[in-house]
Amino acid sequence: MIFLNGHFMPIEKACISVLDRGFIFGDGVYEVIPVYSHKPFRLMEHLHRLQHSLDGIRLKNPYTNKEWHDLLEQIIAKNKGEDQSVYLHITRGVAKRDHAFPDTPPTVFIMSNPLLPPPQEWLTNGVAAITASDNRWIRCDIKSISLLPNVLLRQIAVDAGAIETILIRDGFLTEGSASNIFVVRDQVLLTPPKSHLMLPGITYDVTLELAAASNTIHEVREITENELFSAEEVMLTSSTREIMAITRLNDQSVGNGKPGPKFRQLHQLYQQYKATHMRA
Ligand code: PMP
Repeated sequence: MIFLNGHFMPIEKACISVLDRGFIFGDGVYEVIPVYSHKPFRLMEHLHRLQHSLDGIRLKNPYTNKEWHDLLEQIIAKNKGEDQSVYLHITRGVAKRDHAFPDTPPTVFIMSNPLLPPPQEWLTNGVAAITASDNRWIRCDIKSISLLPNVLLRQIAVDAGAIETILIRDGFLTEGSASNIFVVRDQVLLTPPKSHLMLPGITYDVTLELAAASNTIHEVREITENELFSAEEVMLTSSTREIMAITRLNDQSVGNGKPGPKFRQLHQLYQQYKATHMRA
């Protein structure tokens, strides 16, 4: 079951107008919220980022946090699986095609899919990534549904047999096409600071919190392309992929080509943290 504009219905019954501004202009924002044991993970943080994205495109939030919470509870209950990935999407609504903002209600769409754990092989051996020039706009902090650059960038990785594209802007690492990136150099965990050039990842925050709580030496600072290539470890973080070791970069091994100690430690801490969330 999905939620569309105030109603729950089977996805086959869901229809939107071809004039929806999401369809015509990509004029909207979205969120992806992981659900473990029927409980949304870090919901307040996701709703806070949603508000930031809505503010960024000057669209009024159609619901209060309490209302979002209730809607999510309902969608989770109406869908199968203890672990789910809730996708929430708001556009500027349906109007005659004109760039200027219309005075129409937004379109609100929520769906939920089973959240499957990553293949064991990816955890054991790590995954491959490639690098590409970050050619997106400079409001990457907005979780915009206009994902064409991300789609094209991700496909470069898929075409190369890799699973993620790591983006470089002006010689510095920004993020992945759909993830944030951490590296380890001289045993220090490093990640770029939040800015308009990257999405403020919820998993990025959790990873930094886990590093701090476990006294893992870490630093949030700009990372050059050269530092990325000579890193001991490289990792990606995202709500659906959690924490993953990148062990091949542009067809070269990262470190010794195996998931490293910092990855193993953070991955374990993340699983423990999730378990605490499920019991809470
Ligand atoms: N950057 C981009 C461009 C993304 O699409 C995502 C995934 N939504 C992330 C980073 C990771 O964010 P999160 O940890 O909140 O899933």
